Amino acid sequence: MKSHPDPRKVAFEENKLVKKLCRLMGQAISDFNMIEDGDKVMVCVSGGKDSYAMLDILLKLRERAPIHFDLIAVNLDQKQPGFPEDILPNYLRHLQVPFHIEEQDTYSIVKRVIPDGKTTCGLCSRLRRGILYRVADELGATKIALGHHREDILETFLLNMFYGGQLKSMPPKLQSDDGKHIVIRPLAYVPEKYLERYSLDQEFPIIPCNLCGSQPNLQRNAMKEMLKQWEKSHPGRVESTFKALTHVVPSHLLDSDLFNFKELHIDPSTPVGMGDMAIDEGFDGACSTDQILQPIQFVSLT
Ligand code: SF4
Repeated sequence: MKSHPDPRKVAFEENKLVKKLCRLMGQAISDFNMIEDGDKVMVCVSGGKDSYAMLDILLKLRERAPIHFDLIAVNLDQKQPGFPEDILPNYLRHLQVPFHIEEQDTYSIVKRVIPDGKTTCGLCSRLRRGILYRVADELGATKIALGHHREDILETFLLNMFYGGQLKSMPPKLQSDDGKHIVIRPLAYVPEKYLERYSLDQEFPIIPCNLCGSQPNLQRNAMKEMLKQWEKSHPGRVESTFKALTHVVPSHLLDSDLFNFKELHIDPSTPVGMGDMAIDEGFDGACSTDQILQPIQFVSLT
């Protein structure tokens, strides 16, 4: 006979997950000063698990926040064939959240401009960004919240490093090029697996994300797969890579725009602080000690 899970245990686990999500989101919001007193946050909701979870947890955090801020959910209906128009309005009405559905047929534009078989996401994202900035102005929103999570940030970081030759990713807080908007990513610290579980627990009415028929982004998928493999074969590596993004040491990289190597001279009166000791930090010492000893052994042997 099939045994049913103990409902008390299930409720306990669900509650634990909510607490984790609140803690991680609250931490990111505080670390980057994402939301301030009096803000009106436009929460972009696509119908995917991430943006549903972001809205849900922001509502919980607002209840206990020491500051006052407003939330307005916004969905962009891009007129993709088969887009179920009623799902989001019904859900948001049920949540009793103010919302706005912006209807813009970006689907036809993208299909007209991009040849068949090519990835359409680049143009689609640019069009969407422009529309969301305009809608934010019209609604008087002071912040635009997007539902990118920890793995989105890591994938973008790896893509930029492997294919773009740059160390950069999606920042948790960003000013638009014209300086008129601030984009925030409150899920920046949240692992994707928590959002997958939360979405199942909450039974969010997910809208499929392949309605546009775009070709999958093969490079991004490869990064996603690599992170999943790391998680299995080297537990902790994904977390450590993410942590590295929050602990950058410019004096130990090679970008002379970030650190003035040219002006680095012998000067015991003003040490720069991050010297040779920083090479050892974060390791168990074995590897870096070997590296330091190698030339000494070489010198003593000859
Ligand atoms: S998957 Fe489709 S809707 Fe999403 S960004 Fe790409 S083209 Fe646009």
